[in-house]
Order: sequence, then structure tokens, then C-alpha cells
Amino acid sequence: MLKFSEKGSKLIVIFIITAIFSGSILTYLSVAHISNYKELLEKKISEEERDLTIRFTSDFQDKMESLISIFSNFFQSDHSQDVQALKSFERLNELVNYVAIDSLGSFLWPYVVNNDLSSEQTKPSNPYSNELRTAQNNEFISKDFKNAEIYYLKSLKVAETKSDSANCYNSLARLYVKMGHHQKAIEIDQTIITDFSSTLNAFGFPYVYFSIIKLLRIKNPANFEQFEKLLLLFLNGLIDGEIPLNESSEELLDSISEWKKEFQLSQNNDLLEQSISRVKKLILLVDNYKISLEEIKNDKFTKGNSANFLSIKPISGNPDELMLFFKHEPMSVGFVIGLNPIFMSVLENQQLNNLKFDFNINLVEKKENNYILNSDLIQFATFSPYFEDRLIKVSLKNEGIIDQAVFRRKIIYGLGLFLFLGTMVLGLYLLIQDVKREKRTNKLRADFVSNITHELKTPLTSINMFAEALNMGKDTLDSKQTKYLNIIVKESEKLKRLINNILEFSRKENDKLSYKLQNSNLSEIVKSTLKEMDYFLEINKFEVDLAIEKNIFANVYGEGIKQALSNLISNAVKYSASNKKLIIRLFESGSEIFIEVEDFGIGIPQEKHALIFEKFYRINSDENETVSGTGLGLTVTKAIIEEQYGKLLVESTLGKGSKFTIVLNPA
Ligand code: ADP
Repeated sequence: MLKFSEKGSKLIVIFIITAIFSGSILTYLSVAHISNYKELLEKKISEEERDLTIRFTSDFQDKMESLISIFSNFFQSDHSQDVQALKSFERLNELVNYVAIDSLGSFLWPYVVNNDLSSEQTKPSNPYSNELRTAQNNEFISKDFKNAEIYYLKSLKVAETKSDSANCYNSLARLYVKMGHHQKAIEIDQTIITDFSSTLNAFGFPYVYFSIIKLLRIKNPANFEQFEKLLLLFLNGLIDGEIPLNESSEELLDSISEWKKEFQLSQNNDLLEQSISRVKKLILLVDNYKISLEEIKNDKFTKGNSANFLSIKPISGNPDELMLFFKHEPMSVGFVIGLNPIFMSVLENQQLNNLKFDFNINLVEKKENNYILNSDLIQFATFSPYFEDRLIKVSLKNEGIIDQAVFRRKIIYGLGLFLFLGTMVLGLYLLIQDVKREKRTNKLRADFVSNITHELKTPLTSINMFAEALNMGKDTLDSKQTKYLNIIVKESEKLKRLINNILEFSRKENDKLSYKLQNSNLSEIVKSTLKEMDYFLEINKFEVDLAIEKNIFANVYGEGIKQALSNLISNAVKYSASNKKLIIRLFESGSEIFIEVEDFGIGIPQEKHALIFEKFYRINSDENETVSGTGLGLTVTKAIIEEQYGKLLVESTLGKGSKFTIVLNPA
């Protein structure tokens, strides 16, 4: 092929295919890698979460065991029967509260008493009772408060039990309220609160409660501060276990709250509020566990169960609370622990900084759908068997971390691909520019060669013409002149072929229009070619054997055939230094026409047969070292023949000669 431009296009096509192919492979690899990367991240996250969950539950279990052992140790100590000794547990963060009960199931802590309405009132028989009855008659029947006061004071003097004294004080306080001696009433109530804090009346009702109820009835006390102090004293008594709780405690607390709302004057209000809520917590504590403890009491004390501890859930209220109840004689203790403080302390001791990702560890409520939600990226674990309503949830702090990481990867790969494609497009652009430039320079070169050869052709034609004129009258020339004439003819013949070949070559390079084929008489064309070369062959002393069949017609471009034939004849002359014989045949065989040019010269080695048709190719051997040439002759010849739908074949044996055959189709 002579066309350079086709090579350029081939290169461009190869370049585009390579770009598409490698771009597709890169895209495929990036996509595959990104999805692998996502899977890897998810795997790593779920591994870390699982690890964390296992660690956390095991630490939680350890924590629970250490708490249980702290509680158990209490019963091995000397204070195992001492309610006050339990106070030392208050420094434990994990402990919310505790209860202590005696072997009959009564609360030792918090201090609780039950009203005993069934107890019968004993008839007054001693001096105390007499005085008291007289005082009561004065107070309630004759309404003689002065006298009532005197008799109450008398009965106080002769009172023998704490309960009787408290009763007198209580009656006196009531009387002073009726008499409008508020200050006196308050002072007496203070005495009851401080000195008779746990004294109960015959029905098991604390006298202190009566005092408070009375105080609250004084709507407009002279001294609020003193009044509030008394209320605080009462509340603290309840908190410290000096004053018992009973079924009326809550009601009384509500009355205090209402009173407080009505007279919001003092700064101690907050203190009052805090104390009320502390007492309420104690009441709630009792309410939450009373029934369960009642059941255990029956169970325990009848069967003598000696299990280490029982865990009891509160009846209502906070599900994050749990009582670990240790049954012991004579005092059993229930330690109420809180999940939150335990959770926090376990969490604090977790080593979270050696993890690759940041996680949230939360306490969540156990719901039906928790486990449905359980995915690779969220782990749940239970606090079995302690806090069964709660779960530990381990999840990523930043839930979008995978998407973000994958997005970053996508951006990087996308940029990489973009750069790759950008480089490819740039490369393609430069390649196209290069091919265009090369095409342009080739055209310029071919134009230049064509112009030059055209210019050379004109003087050469004149030289040839004059040489032939001289040749016609060569009888008149002397030997020297004949010799010079021969040289001129030989060289100009050579020059003519050279120029024709170059012109033909540049015509191809410039993609000029192809030949116009005509039905021509090939026999005439071959003959006329030989006639033109007659003198050239003669002076080269060649013996030419001609075998031409008459009038063979073909659709050809005559001038082209002439040029091809003269190239082949000229080669035969050039490469046959010793055996100067040439056979030219023109014949028809089958459906084809053959023009053969056979010489008996140096021949061509088999392996070079295909190469000799390539442009500028020349065989380097000793035999043709002295023969000059351009390597264009056979290239141009082959192109001329093929353009006329023919073929150029070679048969040759090294040292024996060559036969070139032009095969054409008949007209
Ligand atoms: P050139 O003759 O100018 O070198 P060609 O294209 O005509 O270029 O031929 C190419 C080569 O083929 C020659 O250099 C020569 O070695 C070989 N060749 C061509 N014709 C013959 C032949 N008839 N006998 C031997 N060798 C030949």
C-alpha cells in the first residue's frame, strides 16, 4: 500500500480501541473495587461492634458479680444485723436504695408502721386516765379550755408511758389551737416531733402525724420560718427513719405541698420540696417491693430457703431498677440497684480508642422489632438475666460513614478515570494533529518531487528527441560519436524511466484520480514498448526472444502497461550482467492474459520475493552492488497493474534468472 494516510487512520482506530478497552477495564475494576471496599468496611464495622458488644456484656456481668459479692460480704460481717451499718452502702453509685426487713417481714428500713385498727382501747383506770378524762370533758363537753389545760397538764405529770405523754402533749396542742395560742401550740408540736418521733397511739398511729395535721390547719401562723423548720424537722425525721411511714404518709405529704403552695413566702421552699420528694421516694420504694417481699417472707420463712439472693422487679415505676434481695436471719436486706449508673460505670471502663470506628453504646427499651432492626451495622445485646426490659445497642456514631468513605473512593476513581480519559483524548488529538501534519508534508514533498520531475522531463524529452535524430543518421557518425550517442541514449532512457516512476509514485501519494481504462490492443502495446527500447537493448547487447500472440485485447491504460513493461525489461537488463538473454511472451490462457518477462540473470532468493515489491526496498548482494536503482521500480509497476485489476507475479531462482508475469483480465 502506498497510502500513508491509511496508516495514520489505523493508528487512530487502534488508539481509540485501546482507550475504550482500557477505560472499560479500569471502570469495571473501580466498580468492583468500590463494592469490595464497601463490603470490607461493613464487615470491619460489624466485627468491631460484635467485639464491643461481647466485651460490654461481659464487663456488665463482672460488674454485677462484684456488686453481689460486696452485698454478700455484708452478711459475713459483724454488722449484719445493724440497719445503720447499711448506710455505708450509700456511697455506692450503683445503689439506688435499700430495704431491710426483720424475720417477721416488717420493714426495718425504711421505717414503716401499719395502723392497727383492731386493737381495743383499754379503759382508764389509773390516775392518768382520770385526769385525762376530766380534761377531755372540760375541752369537749363544757368547753372550759382553761380547766382543760390544767387537767391535761396534770395528766402529763402522772403519765407513765411515752405514749401517754405524747397523748397529753397532743391534746394540749389541740387545745392551744382552739384557744388561739398558736405559738404555744407550735412549741408543743415541736416537742412531739423531737421527743416523740416514733411514739404511736393505741391504733398504731404516730402522734407526730397529728401534730403536723394540726399545724397545717393554722392558716396564718405568726412565724412562718419557725413553722417551716418544724415541717422540715418532720420530713427529715421521715427520711432518717426516726419518724415512721404509714398509709397516711403520702396524704400528709400532699397536704404539706398544698400548704407550701398557699404560702410561698420562705426561701426554704426548695428545701421543703426536696425533702418531700425524698420521702415520696421512700414511699415508692416500699410500695414497689412490699407485695413481692410479702410473698418472699411467706415462702422464705416457711420453707427456710437459703438461696444467696433473689432478684425482684419493682411493681411499678422505673424498669431500670432492680432489687437484689438477700435473705438472712434476723435481718434480710434488699439492695435496689440502678441500671443507668452500672451502665455508665461499665461504659467508662471501655477501651474505645483502639477501635477504628466511633460507636455509640446506648441503653434502649426492648421491643418486638428490636431484633428485626438488628442489622450488620447495629448490634443488640441483653442484660440477661437482670434487666430484661432493656438492651444494649451498639451502633455507629456516624451512620453515614460508609457512604462517605465510598463516595470519597468514587470521587478518587472518578477523577482517575477522568484524567485517564482526558489524557487519552489529548493523546488522540495530538495523534490526529501529527497524522494531519505528516499528510500535509507528504503531500508537499510529493508535489515538490512531481514538479521537479516534470521540470526535468521537458529537457529530457528534447535530449531524447535529438539523440534519436542523430541515431537516424548514425551512418555518418564516426566511432567516437557513435559511442557518445549510445551513452546519451542509454542514460536518457534510464533517466526517463526514473522520472516516470517518480511521477507515478507521487501521483499515488497524492491520491490522484485513477486511470481511465480503455479497450486496447495489448499486442500493439507490447510491440511498441519493445520498439521504443530497441536501441537500448541493442546497445546493451541483449538477445530478445519475442512470443506475442496477435491482437489480444484488454481493458487497460496503455501508457501504464508500457511503463510497467519497460520497468520489468529494464530490471532484466540491469540484473543480467553475464547471460544477456530476454524472453517476452504475451498470451491468453483460460480467462486471463499473461505478459511474461523472463531473464537468465542473477535471480532473487526465495525469501526476498515478497520484499522486492515494497517501496525503496533493494536487495543488498555482491551481484547487484554495482547496479544503481531507487527501489521504486517494482513498487510502481505492481501498483500500476493492480490499479487495472491485474496481478504482478514473480518466479525466480537465485543464480538462474527471474520471470515476472503481468496477469490481466481480457476486455
Ligand atoms: P531497483 O531496480 O531500482 O533497485 P526495483 O523495485 O525495480 O528497484 O527492484 C527491487 C529489487 O528487486 C532490485 O534492487 C533487485 O535486487 C531485485 N530485482 C528486480 N528485478 C530483478 C531481476 N529481474 N533479477 C534480479 N533481481 C531483480
